[in-house]
Amino acid sequence: MQTLLAEFIRSTPEGAEAAEILGKCVHCGFCTATCPTYQLLGDELDGPRGRIYLIKQVLEGAAPTQKTQLHLDRCLTCRNCETTCPSGVQYGRLLDIGRKVVEDRVPRPRAQRLMRTALKEGLTSPLFAPALKLGQMVRPLLPATLKRKVPAKQDAGAWPARTHARRMLLLAGCVQPAMAPNINAATARVFDALGVELVVPKAAGCCGAIRYHLNDHDGGLADARRNIDAWWPHIEAGCEAIVMNASGCGAQVREYGHLLRLDPAYAAKAKRVSEVTKDVAELLPALLAEKGLTARGDARVVFHPPCTLQHAQQIRGAVEALLASFGAEVLPFADSHLCCGSAGTYSIFQPELSMQLRDRKLASLQQPQPDEILSANIGCIAHLSTGTDTPVKHWIEWLDGRLRAG
Ligand code: SF4
Ligand code: SF4
Repeated sequence: MQTLLAEFIRSTPEGAEAAEILGKCVHCGFCTATCPTYQLLGDELDGPRGRIYLIKQVLEGAAPTQKTQLHLDRCLTCRNCETTCPSGVQYGRLLDIGRKVVEDRVPRPRAQRLMRTALKEGLTSPLFAPALKLGQMVRPLLPATLKRKVPAKQDAGAWPARTHARRMLLLAGCVQPAMAPNINAATARVFDALGVELVVPKAAGCCGAIRYHLNDHDGGLADARRNIDAWWPHIEAGCEAIVMNASGCGAQVREYGHLLRLDPAYAAKAKRVSEVTKDVAELLPALLAEKGLTARGDARVVFHPPCTLQHAQQIRGAVEALLASFGAEVLPFADSHLCCGSAGTYSIFQPELSMQLRDRKLASLQQPQPDEILSANIGCIAHLSTGTDTPVKHWIEWLDGRLRAG
């Protein structure tokens, strides 16, 4: 697809990147068939090929409108289309560029602007935890619909007291420690059992995905630089990996090298940080094999692979294999490639589409009648939990329980 960039973006790095990505698209439309929003809405402009056309037009100088913005807003950024595309079109990166250009040119209504700022600052703020605690205190008094949105208070269990010569870093995340503290504690316990101490540098915080995907690129990059500063002394001291147990954060940190490639002060560090960033499922097979740790038992589970795991990070089958090796019957279900509708802040800004996707996903997940639904990202876990009584948890919590039970 040949692109004649408009003057305003022609000589910029974003323009060069967008033109390169657009050049790979051959308009075949294979991606459209697997796009969740196209499946729901049936409009070409709510599928990847249509959105690619819209972005191309804007980058070539057409004035974007609120309608352009709406079609781009409706995209889940699930990147299912990237997995489907036979030409290697990096749709997610193109979308980031296109959305930012449209954001700068199409003013949003005041209420939307306020909501976006409140989420960007609220979810990543230290005040999120006390606010959630307050919600949990009044939870029993809330009506059922609201109650489901406030996760019940969770006991995290003990953080391992032992230290080990072998150390890795853990990104605690911004909302995860408050919403589901057991995920980080369970991760630390599993690694402790394998002879690895997980270190959580206090200065590290939100990975930047929330700000970046709400088109605050500067804010997202500031989050990235702060995390790199927090991790760098540990990496220089030989820390071999940064462990990610939220696939959304993992996908973002893996992009640091690309996002900061033009920053002379951070490019090399960011590249290194991205290289040593690993999902828990990538690290555990080798560690488990080294220690010869096993546990058996019966369990019927389904594993919902988050889009940020299977499409953004292209990690497929690793968790299912681990679960099976610890005695789980991992039940197959339909349409495992489709998004559950959580997608960061999507469930707040596009509630109708998000709920339709959640209900479809839950219908598929529950069809084989599992005892538990497992996943790998706090957003998916919280979102799916709002629509079912079947327990939904992170798979590392399941593995921690299995190891502790022996
Ligand atoms: S990222 Fe997901 S929702 Fe967006 S166009 Fe691609 S497949 Fe569709
Ligand atoms: S599948 Fe790839 S090449 Fe085909 S239309 Fe979609 S993005 Fe373009």
